[in-house]
Amino acid sequence: MSTLRPSGVLNPELEMQSPEQRRAYLGERLRAVVAHAYANAPRVRRQFDEAGLKPGDISGLADLPKLPITSKDELPAWQAVDLPFGGLLATLISRLQRIYMSPGPSYVPEADRPDFWRMRMAFAAAGFQSGDVVQNTLSYHLSPGGLMMDAGLKSLGCVVIPAGVGQTELQIRVAVDAGVTGYVGTPSFLYTLLTRAKAAGTPLRIKSAFVTAEMLPESLRTEIERDFGVRVLQGYGTADLGLLAYECAEKKGMHLQPEAIVEVLDLETREPAAPGQPGQVVGTLFDEAYPLLRFATGDIASLAEPGACPCGRTAPKLTGLLGRVGDAVKVKGMFIRGSQLEEVFKRFPEVASFQAIVAREEHLDRLTYLVELGAQVGEPAAWKAQVAEALKDAVKVRGEVQIVAAGAIAPGSKKVVDRRVWK
Ligand SMILES: [Zn+2]
Repeated sequence: MSTLRPSGVLNPELEMQSPEQRRAYLGERLRAVVAHAYANAPRVRRQFDEAGLKPGDISGLADLPKLPITSKDELPAWQAVDLPFGGLLATLISRLQRIYMSPGPSYVPEADRPDFWRMRMAFAAAGFQSGDVVQNTLSYHLSPGGLMMDAGLKSLGCVVIPAGVGQTELQIRVAVDAGVTGYVGTPSFLYTLLTRAKAAGTPLRIKSAFVTAEMLPESLRTEIERDFGVRVLQGYGTADLGLLAYECAEKKGMHLQPEAIVEVLDLETREPAAPGQPGQVVGTLFDEAYPLLRFATGDIASLAEPGACPCGRTAPKLTGLLGRVGDAVKVKGMFIRGSQLEEVFKRFPEVASFQAIVAREEHLDRLTYLVELGAQVGEPAAWKAQVAEALKDAVKVRGEVQIVAAGAIAPGSKKVVDRRVWK
């Protein structure tokens, strides 16, 4: 096995705070951002007034549960009556650097500040270094993904190739010609670039990869590390909140980003979920331009048991994402959850993305799994039958597997879609 790039700790002062230091640091930043948001964001002021809350009621982290929770689902409606940011912007539009539109759809502001989305610590963990030439293969159009990564790489001193999505042959050429050493994008596309370049006799020299926006099967990571010598780490974030958690070299969960408050709340009680228990990821940002307070992402995850991590970071860890709130759908009398399906698809690393569709035909539920492939499969019919069997074992309902073209499943879309119309 080739030696992997060392993983770095960019900001030990923040990443290795003691729990007491962290509480004090987050509490002080929370107090400050609440006062600012109340004074400058009309929607926040209204929320506080309706809840009978004053900014002075929030003096530290212990007061966090007093703050109302804002759901991502509410955002499009708020924005529709108060364009474009629903009254949540706490600065003048003219002070922004960019405006994005993310799936939902919702508008997302970006203030003019280096690494606005707090990405750089995650890149350092993945081994990125100043002077790296990095191919960024996330989309630069409308949604924030591409430029989100771009800003973090820039703040770390990397040189960025804004490659965007697709055009595999062209991407291999530019990676070879420019001596690319870093990669940002989905794991399946990384695999495609590496294997095709190798087959063409022009192997790539990528040493570090930060992957996101898609599941990362452990078998795929192992293969890329072993056969190509690329360190592969992943992170979790959303279009509204930016980076919320990132992996260290231990790979056993993602440390919470220390410059934001990330909660995992029980789906029913909205109390903090115990370690190991699934709950909704809720983020609070300290950004003065767009101070989102207790913003519920709709993503379900759980926190790892607390404990020291060999990497030296002290922030709690999120374990893998388990699906989306509201993903459970009843099919032929059985509940099917995105997280269950995710577990099954992890065993098929050639699957880049999937979506279950529940429809109604002649009064019968019909379950179809759309599957995007990141790698070739030998005998498609036999392969589909094998996947369908594994899924049936897990969810107890038979479904049909259909291979669809790359890009057919929109990133971030629900894992289980209910298309039944009840008349
Ligand atoms: Zn760690």
